[in-house]
Order: sequence, then structure tokens, then C-alpha cells
Amino acid sequence: MGYIQKLMLPPTPSAADLLRTYKLPALRRFAQNFLLDPRGTSKFVACAGNIENKFVIEVGPGPGGITRQLFEHGAAQVAAIEKDIRLFPALQTLANAVDSRLRLYLGDILDFDIESVIPDSITSQRGSWESNESSSLSPIHLVGNLPFNIAIPLLIRWLQQVSTQSGPFSYGYRIPITICMQEAVAGRIVSDALMDQRGRLSIIFQNWFDCRIKHIFSGRAFVPAANVNVAVMQLIPLKRPLVDVSYDLLDKVTRTAFHTRNKKMGMTMTSLFHQETCDEDTRELLHRAHLKSDTKCLTLTVEEFGQLAQIYGDIISRPRPIHEQIDKKINEKELTFELGETYVRSKKLE
Ligand code: SAM
Repeated sequence: MGYIQKLMLPPTPSAADLLRTYKLPALRRFAQNFLLDPRGTSKFVACAGNIENKFVIEVGPGPGGITRQLFEHGAAQVAAIEKDIRLFPALQTLANAVDSRLRLYLGDILDFDIESVIPDSITSQRGSWESNESSSLSPIHLVGNLPFNIAIPLLIRWLQQVSTQSGPFSYGYRIPITICMQEAVAGRIVSDALMDQRGRLSIIFQNWFDCRIKHIFSGRAFVPAANVNVAVMQLIPLKRPLVDVSYDLLDKVTRTAFHTRNKKMGMTMTSLFHQETCDEDTRELLHRAHLKSDTKCLTLTVEEFGQLAQIYGDIISRPRPIHEQIDKKINEKELTFELGETYVRSKKLE
């Protein structure tokens, strides 16, 4: 992408003016709480780091307060994806002021193919996460002040894509994500072992991202005011995950463990397995992970959860002829099957 000098926009109505001009009340159904004060929008964009000459994908631009700041902080191009069609005339005013550097897309981000908006000049230069040492080399940034109910499903989708280096993360860049969410949810993501807010989100996000809360806005910073404080969270994909394990396995194990967070692992982990073998499988799981059955999930590190997920994956991927036979109702007296490297004689099947 060519060098574009950081520049002030030509005189353009502010996002607040545009909302007034186009008579656009915030709609509850789109969970609209706009950030209109330029000090707030500038603060949000500063949290994204250096975006000079970068291609920025903004989710839910609203009337364009943050979008405008992205240009004032030197973004080369912005692709903005917005669901509320009423906001397009206001956004178009901003687009006219920056020539072709702002592309507007009408759509729901949860169904939207983000890769389709990334310019060929970036997609054609596929690098690798190994060679692109620093996330600051990423020519792409993802940003958004989104409805709270969209932020986590969207982040989980991006997390799954990071875990397989697919979607927008397939071009070899560790794309930084800067996004607003409720302070309490952000607290759960960054929480360490033994902290009250520790949970599944802490483990799955910390395994693949460097997670930081960059700023807290009071709910009063938004129009209309949000009824909770809002955190600006930055997530930068790690060059390598803390533990190399599939998202599905880590998600399953952490979901199960934190379902009853105060119970002992020897009890909670049994529900991971088939009822016929759950006691034996749980014993093996905890033994191989060097954990005691009275260990509580709050005490475990991300690495320990990752190891549990790897061992769990190993246990469930073994042939399970007893259950298969039961399911198929095959009436055999005796069955021999392979269990890892040892041969085990099964129970008699009636
Ligand atoms: N970013 C703007 C700002 O800070 O003023 C607007 C913030 S408002 C909390 C969230 C924005 O996301 C709204 O403009 C809303 O219409 C839009 N939005 C809501 N759901 C969306 C979705 N599924 N896909 C894309 N945009 C969405």
C-alpha cells in the first residue's frame, strides 16, 4: 500500500452533527450507544496503536465518529461494515471527504465475509507468522465499538480463525483487534489463575492472544449513556499459542471445568466421557496431567488446561468398541480391541 500522509480532513460535519442533520435517533434494536466526543473517539483509536498507512476494517461505524478519527490518525483505507442502513447517508458524507479511502458495506458482521474487503495488494503478499515477527508489521487492523451482544461471538469466530490461521488471519499477519466490550467481560478475558473472574474466556483467549485492557470509558461517554463501564480491549494473536491444541478441545474442556467452578476436577471432568468409562477415563486424564482429583479449576494455568485438552483429545480418539458395539446392538460374547499400545479384553456384552 502506497505511503499516504497523515492529514486533517476537509471541513466535514461531526458525527454528532450528522446524527442531528439526518434525524437519526439511536435504536435499541441495534444496541446503539454512539461515541461522539472527539476526545473519546481519538482515545479509542489511540488504543489501536500505530495505524498510519494501515488498512483498517471497522465493524459497526455508526455515524462515523471513530471512522473519522481513523483517517485523522493516518489510516490509508477503511472498510466499514454497518448493519443499520439509516446511517449510510451520514457515512457517505465522510466518504465523500476522503475520496475512495472509505468503503462502506451494508451487512451483519456475523454473516459477513471479511476477507472479501481486503485489497489484493495485501492478499497477494502472503507472508508467514514466523517471518512477520512483530504484529506492528500487520498492514491490517480490526477495530469496532460494537454492540456488547455481538462482541464475544465475533471474537470467538476470530479466535477460531486465529487458531487455524484462516480467514483474514491466513495472510501471515498477526492482525491486532481493538474492540469495546463491557468492563466485566474484558475482566474475565484477562483474568489470571485464582482470580474470581477466571473462566473459560480467560483460558481460550489467553491461549491464542496477548490480551490487554487499554482503556475504560465510563458509560456516560456514550450517547445514549451505556449502563455499564466499557473497556477498550486489544487482542494481538500470539506468534505461537501457549499450547498447540484445537479450539474445539480446549473449549470443551474449559466449558466442562468451569460449569461448576468450585467442584473438584475429579467430579467435573467425568462429564467429558461416556458414562460407561467416565470414572476410569477421568482417572487417566488427571493422572497423565499430574493433577489430583481434588484440584479446583480456578487454580489451573492456561498451559495446564491446554495439556488436559491434549490428553482428553488423545483419550477420546482411541477406538471405543464397547460403545460402538452397544450402539449397534451386536450380540457378541467377547471382544478384543486395541487401547493405545496395549491390548485389552473387554467386558462381556450381553
Ligand atoms: N462505532 C460507532 C460509535 O462508536 O459511535 C457505533 C457504536 S454502536 C455501539 C454499534 C454499531 O454497530 C451501531 O452503529 C449498530 O448499528 C452497528 N451494528 C449492530 N449490530 C451489527 C452487526 N451485526 N453488524 C454490523 N454492525 C452492527
